[in-house]
Amino acid sequence: MKVILLGPPGVGKGTQAQKLQQERGLRQISTGDILRQAIKNQTALRQQADDYLRRGELVPDELMLGLIAETLFGAEAPRDYVLDGFPRTIPQAEGLDKLFAQHGVSLDSVIQLSADPDAIVSRLSARRTCRKCNAVYNLLTNPPRDPLRCDACGGELYQREDDRVETITRRLQVYTKQTEPLAEYYRQRGQLKIVPADGTPSEVFQRIINAIGG
Ligand code: AMP
Repeated sequence: MKVILLGPPGVGKGTQAQKLQQERGLRQISTGDILRQAIKNQTALRQQADDYLRRGELVPDELMLGLIAETLFGAEAPRDYVLDGFPRTIPQAEGLDKLFAQHGVSLDSVIQLSADPDAIVSRLSARRTCRKCNAVYNLLTNPPRDPLRCDACGGELYQREDDRVETITRRLQVYTKQTEPLAEYYRQRGQLKIVPADGTPSEVFQRIINAIGG
């Protein structure tokens, strides 16, 4: 099964992708996590990607398509996965369609998580991420038992640099301009399912499962 999760930053894509991984065995492919890991490990990607992430801008399409081709069709490619954070532009979606066609693979569902824009900024400011296992928490809606430690692995929880208010505003603008048109792109292909993202993570998860027919 191959699923795309769409939606604005902070809507809960990461949390839901992790649940799909844990409970349905779909591999979570988060391009944001891959980029942050590459930056942390000082790989060649670091120089190309670091500035974009800091500013809340998108990394160029060509670079992202190379990264996703390697992840989805390289030596360690998973069979079932959920894409969290990719595609983010129309050229990325077109590039992904081409890759699927070349490899004879088809997409099962595109889920758009929808939320009230006013709720997003406060959700993003309250987000905390585990340095060790990338688990995502929210001090308001999905709090860890200890605000400084990950429930799952005990790793240190931190606030992503791009989750500060100044960068959040820019990321939301980028989303509206470059990523929101993807909903129409997939709607025209009859692949789009819209799922309200309000409620607890378990409630949202159940809606996603219903939408993908799991
Ligand atoms: P995320 O963790 O999905 O919020 O992504 C964090 C940052 O990584 C974004 O603000 C972008 O700078 C970069 N990024 C992640 N995925 C993509 C993508 N598909 N295209 C371009 N940039 C991306």
